[in-house]
Amino acid sequence: MGNEFISVLKYIGNCMLQVVYPVSGDCIICKGYTVDDRWLCSSCENKIKYCQERFEVTKNNKRYSYYCLAYYSKGISELVLRLKYKSDFACANALGEKMAELIVKNNLVIDFITFVPATKQSLMKRGYNQSQLLAKVIGEVLKVKVISTLDKIKETKDQIGLNEEMRWQNISGSYKLRSDMKIKNKKILLVDDVMTTGATTFCCAEELIKSEVNCVIILTAAKSKL
Ligand SMILES: [Zn+2]
Repeated sequence: MGNEFISVLKYIGNCMLQVVYPVSGDCIICKGYTVDDRWLCSSCENKIKYCQERFEVTKNNKRYSYYCLAYYSKGISELVLRLKYKSDFACANALGEKMAELIVKNNLVIDFITFVPATKQSLMKRGYNQSQLLAKVIGEVLKVKVISTLDKIKETKDQIGLNEEMRWQNISGSYKLRSDMKIKNKKILLVDDVMTTGATTFCCAEELIKSEVNCVIILTAAKSKL
């Protein structure tokens, strides 16, 4: 039943996404021929180090579960960077579909999907929020509504180059829950592109639980090391 369900889900997802982005059948990374996976050829697929485990981050006696699609290494890093800096939205489809499969594989039931927000300045500069795009694809595949729940109220320094403690300090107080969110007792999936220390998504989750949600599960495309 599990595999069948995933196949059906994948089929529906593919049909919907093909309307938006016609797929040529070429590997999204090397342009080689794809057989089973409509995004990656077997050679590129085999280079990806998928995460097999669930992660947890504990801080101040609070703990959240993290699911990450793959370690930030060859293949995944290219897709994340192309999505983030080159406006390559097909990468959001490729990553988002695989992230949705991870939710199905782990039998996770969710009511709403939300995402790590960007500041208004950052949105103006880039023109889009890559985490929101990933959430949108995941929502389309899983047939779960994507909602905007948070605002980024503080411009933060790029986390790159900061150590763990500095990252937590840098991000602290940066996110705020929107008012009148009707998410009480709901299971929320929080989406981001990359997890490093988990500080960003942890701070977002801390805002979400102010709405007395049932739980927050965090999902990212990649898991990076400091
Ligand atoms: Zn390839």
